[in-house]
Amino acid sequence: MLLTRPTRPHPALRFLRRPKAALLASAVTVCLVAAGAPAEPLGVGDRIFPELGNPGYDVAAYDLAFTYPGSNDRPLKAVTTIDARLTSSLNRINLDFAHGTVESVEVDGRRAAFTSAGEDLVVTPDHALPLGSVTRITVRHTSDPRPADDEDGGWVRTTDGLAMANQADAAHLVFPCNDHPSDKAMFTFHVTAPNGYTAVANGLPTGVVKAGGSGGSTTWNYRSRHPMATELAQVSIGHSAVIRRTGPHGLPLRDVVPAADKKELEPWLAKTPDQIGWMESKIGPYPFETYGVLMAQASTGFELETQTLSLFEKDIFTEPAYPKWYIESVMVHELSHQWFGDSVSPRTWSDVWLNEGHATWYEALYAEEKADRPLEDRMKAAYGASDRWRAAGGPPARPKPPAPGQKIGIFRPNIYDGAALVLFALRQEIGRDAFERLEKVWVQENRDTSVGTADFVRLASAIGGRDLTGFFRDWLYGEKTPPMPGHPDWKQVPAPASAGSAKKS
Ligand SMILES: [Zn+2]
Repeated sequence: MLLTRPTRPHPALRFLRRPKAALLASAVTVCLVAAGAPAEPLGVGDRIFPELGNPGYDVAAYDLAFTYPGSNDRPLKAVTTIDARLTSSLNRINLDFAHGTVESVEVDGRRAAFTSAGEDLVVTPDHALPLGSVTRITVRHTSDPRPADDEDGGWVRTTDGLAMANQADAAHLVFPCNDHPSDKAMFTFHVTAPNGYTAVANGLPTGVVKAGGSGGSTTWNYRSRHPMATELAQVSIGHSAVIRRTGPHGLPLRDVVPAADKKELEPWLAKTPDQIGWMESKIGPYPFETYGVLMAQASTGFELETQTLSLFEKDIFTEPAYPKWYIESVMVHELSHQWFGDSVSPRTWSDVWLNEGHATWYEALYAEEKADRPLEDRMKAAYGASDRWRAAGGPPARPKPPAPGQKIGIFRPNIYDGAALVLFALRQEIGRDAFERLEKVWVQENRDTSVGTADFVRLASAIGGRDLTGFFRDWLYGEKTPPMPGHPDWKQVPAPASAGSAKKS
């Protein structure tokens, strides 16, 4: 994710979380919950989002079917099918799901009881699920594109339909899932929309089926060829043009833009093949089956690296205030996330500096090489602000939790330029050759997995030829920024007086 504009102000109400139990109440009445201890929300113990994800199973595949009613202010009908392998014996299985009505749940083809607890959908099958078994959970539900009044949604409403922006904790506002990047899975999508709309999702198309007749509908099917975290799912529905071209080594590219703006946006779209080539020259082969840019007519305030199809606000490409080099570096930021964040996912949300630090690094490196904007100048400026960023957002690898309901709340400068600064310090410490080798090996060895900060420290130590634990402890977890190797003259710069007096607490 990259914040490119100040987001809309959040009314105080948005910080108050109301109980979610009411959302599913009507559906719950038709099903009796099995006797036993009361259902409770569970999590995988993420320090920042303690109730995200669920223990006891590993999702292998999601099959998501959405039916769009032709208007983005009404719920979509949806069927979510989850194939999971049990990593514990369970009598009850928790899914994350908090913004829709559940009509029915089946486990292995048999009707199951369900209820809600916190932001979990708690399913009780009529049989226990033994360790090591494979189970199929089918949930018929609605998926509501209207945001809940107390938190950011996963659906983004565009002027002509919908797109998705689930990072960090909003996929379970769209579909039931194990909503944590430590559990990646394969995805299949079936999106049915009235004729005249175009639907595109992550991965490659697997067929379009027209129902026929006037007022008919079309179903668009897609499948991912690599595992994906729930936060990176993308479904675009709109009056869109899909523009195809070929990238390096025959890589199929497809961009999705409002059909009316196709011509105006083409010069930007045409930049992608060279940008992929540039990234490949730095860190090796592009990790997925396709890539493209989704330019949505929406006001999000951020751009997002949804897997194989990055989401951008269309307006950043047409707003004359943004310099060309800046827009290109934003495109490279999201592109580099396909390696850092998507192919190699964070094991916990405290590891998100590995996503954003690297994306910021390549964004800045691209600006240095293509637009003559020295990386070192940017890093020196970051150094000057780093202590303030750490005080406001926490050290890079121990970010402070977000305000409740704000999915973008952990995306503060400490994990962007503040984390790129850690990579700069590392390059100073181990030398350019070792650093560049580390980057390549990191994305190759960890392709399609979820890894954490300790893994990066281990690999950096191995490639750097010495134990870097102490170096990283100070740089990643210190309240104060350590001295920059090779630049003893770099100092913290006090905040401008106006910034200090504007804030009351
Ligand atoms: Zn980013």
